[in-house]
Amino acid sequence: MEVEERLSEVLSRIRESEKAANRPEHAVGLVAVSKTFGAEAIRPVIAAGQRVFGENRVQEAQAKWPELRNETPDLELHLIGPLQSNKAADAVALFDAIETIDREKIARAVSAEMKRQGRNLRLYVQVNTGLEPQKAGVAPEETVAFVRFCHGELGLNIEGLMCIPPIEENPGPHFALLAKLAAQCGLAKLSMGMSGDFETAIAFGATSVRVGSAIFGAR
Ligand SMILES: *Cc1c(COP(=O)(O)O)cnc(C)c1O
Repeated sequence: MEVEERLSEVLSRIRESEKAANRPEHAVGLVAVSKTFGAEAIRPVIAAGQRVFGENRVQEAQAKWPELRNETPDLELHLIGPLQSNKAADAVALFDAIETIDREKIARAVSAEMKRQGRNLRLYVQVNTGLEPQKAGVAPEETVAFVRFCHGELGLNIEGLMCIPPIEENPGPHFALLAKLAAQCGLAKLSMGMSGDFETAIAFGATSVRVGSAIFGAR
């Protein structure tokens, strides 16, 4: 199957899942995760109409996206991997959204850089729903206070929450927890669901899904 075909299949599965969950058409957006793939693999996906992409490393994204952006100005780029504060300036300059705000230090660094650069990115707080030691994200019980801190102390425009459920667990309870926390925070956006579980995530209220290998192939 060609990449265009895989993209259109993912999009139709998203539309089917919206219907099955009684959600309005286009309630769910697609972030096409292009990490590890080069510009030549990404171009056909852009040509097929996809505009929103996700990358998990700042340096890798810097190497390929400026050129792709010159070719197609209306692209939207999301950082979906952990951010170090020494990369905050580069991330704020390159990305339109950062989905991985996960600690006070990063929130402060991103806030300072957005002021310095005069940019206003869309931001998500990452929640470590499985409390996995190796995974980034705020603990579920700290999420409401952290979002309040970001809004109140830093004036950050946090749009929603993001999670990556533990790989070996049923993702449903993690998606349900993220939806509950977002409601407690008064946030409308939920970034959850990947190639293996995006239909489940949509059933639990995802407003965007991050799909890589189902579009680009195995990494
Ligand atoms: C790689 C990645 C994805 C996409 O994973 P696939 O299983 O290839 O769809 C989604 N979210 C994050 C945070 C990722 O790092």
